[in-house]
Amino acid sequence: MKIYISVDMEGIIGVVYPDFLTNRGYDYSRARKFMTEDVNAAVRGALMAGAQEIIVNDSHNAMTNVLVEELQSPAKLITGSPKLHSMMEGLDSTFDGAIFIGYYSKMNSRGVLNHTFSSRTVYKLKLNNQEIGELEFNAYIAGFYNVPVLMVSGDDQVAREAQNLIEGVKTVAVKEARGRYTALCLNPKDAHSLIEENAYKAVAEKDKISPLQIQEPLELRITLLNSGMADAAQIMPGVERIGANILQYTATDIIEAYQAFRTITILAGSIIQM
Ligand SMILES: [Zn+2]
Repeated sequence: MKIYISVDMEGIIGVVYPDFLTNRGYDYSRARKFMTEDVNAAVRGALMAGAQEIIVNDSHNAMTNVLVEELQSPAKLITGSPKLHSMMEGLDSTFDGAIFIGYYSKMNSRGVLNHTFSSRTVYKLKLNNQEIGELEFNAYIAGFYNVPVLMVSGDDQVAREAQNLIEGVKTVAVKEARGRYTALCLNPKDAHSLIEENAYKAVAEKDKISPLQIQEPLELRITLLNSGMADAAQIMPGVERIGANILQYTATDIIEAYQAFRTITILAGSIIQM
């Protein structure tokens, strides 16, 4: 049995503030350790349930956060960037299930460190006229490969988002959002026990969960933070500008939608230094 784990940082136990999130931050080295520990708990649970092969994909920022020297054997790690499929790199139809660790709620919600892929460029992302976040977009990518998302950990807000989206998904809220930069955190030992236990149950009961799918073709609508970002990103072929800050793109499948979205955010981000 093969299990895929995508791990982000904003929804990791103890992480509440941007200082944890980049290598310029005072708390970054602690956050890397916390992130590795949350992943290891999920790996232990998946192994107990019979997983033989586990691939962990580091999905935050430069994607070199997880401490490979402390990774629970026999899990393997995809580290570094850029990657063609970014937060879902390495996933294909040979996997039996996916687990999302350290995830967070979409922009315009009330979760800890909420945003949608890029807090510096994206105000709102809509797919087929529904506002979505990273959890949902990544779950559709898994669904494209017929892989169900079995478990999600993060704060209580992303846990609720996951439950509303995926019937039967196991969730672990390692912290309760008290604001965008404030949380009531579980004791890490208790959080790790919960992650391990739920990863075990999620993998053991994997056949009860269906892969998440969405009707194609897909209409992607992205509201950027300002019109300068839309000026930069509208050079992308196939993009239509439908407002000062709003771009639209029609994709034939979810993989194309993901690539188009990421291209637009990279182009939009190119003007930040100006
Ligand atoms: Zn992140």
